[in-house]
Amino acid sequence: MSEPKIGRVLPSSLHQAITELMPQRIEFYESWLTPLRIRQGELGRARMTAVLSFLRQEGANYDAVVRRAGCYTADWTVDTLGPVERSMIRRLPRALRIRAVLRAAGRLVCQLHAESQFDSVVRRGTAVVEIEGSLFCDVREQAPAPLCGFYAALLERYFEFFDLPCAAAISRCCAAGDASCELILDTVSSSGPSDSDQPADGRSRRRALPDDWDAASLGGLAFLRAPRYGGSHQLRCCVVGNRRSAVARPGTSP
Ligand SMILES: [Zn+2]
Repeated sequence: MSEPKIGRVLPSSLHQAITELMPQRIEFYESWLTPLRIRQGELGRARMTAVLSFLRQEGANYDAVVRRAGCYTADWTVDTLGPVERSMIRRLPRALRIRAVLRAAGRLVCQLHAESQFDSVVRRGTAVVEIEGSLFCDVREQAPAPLCGFYAALLERYFEFFDLPCAAAISRCCAAGDASCELILDTVSSSGPSDSDQPADGRSRRRALPDDWDAASLGGLAFLRAPRYGGSHQLRCCVVGNRRSAVARPGTSP
């Protein structure tokens, strides 16, 4: 029986993050993260596991890479929710919006890696997310620190899109010996007093890219083909204020 395939979004985002943060190492990682396999959706779990295993040996770069990959994954997939669903979520009052965003993010997490399970509860504006089967945290030896920064960054980004800024704290992790990974998102402490119960105004505050990023640095994976998310998606740069941001829009493959 063939091994399960990972899909395109997760390896694409990792490839892009490694290219930007460890350009001198991308040739090494392309032994497993081959662009052709990514484009064809043929990257298997074994190759992804090898990439993550080597990444964990990169010291502080591991967390930086997986978190940036989490941001990219959110950027490249949030528009696939569809304009009606995004608009409906943004019109909801805060308490219902938090639950709606969690449902959308949960669907995405399970689509990224079919063996993952996502569950969440919300109490007084604080969301507790439990993830089982995290690909990032499947290690043979206990890790000294949590390894699910990818999910923390992805969830923070998703919440930010819907005007729910928060910081995701990793409270438990499979890699540290826990039964599952658990992240806590406190949307109350991070919110301003003016928007406590108001619907979002429809303008997501997308995190701007660092100043040293430019369009050229995003060119390596300018087109992301993801049929399961409704077709191909074109990566574009847009300007937010005087800074740049990356977004994915439905586009036509070249
Ligand atoms: Zn974990």
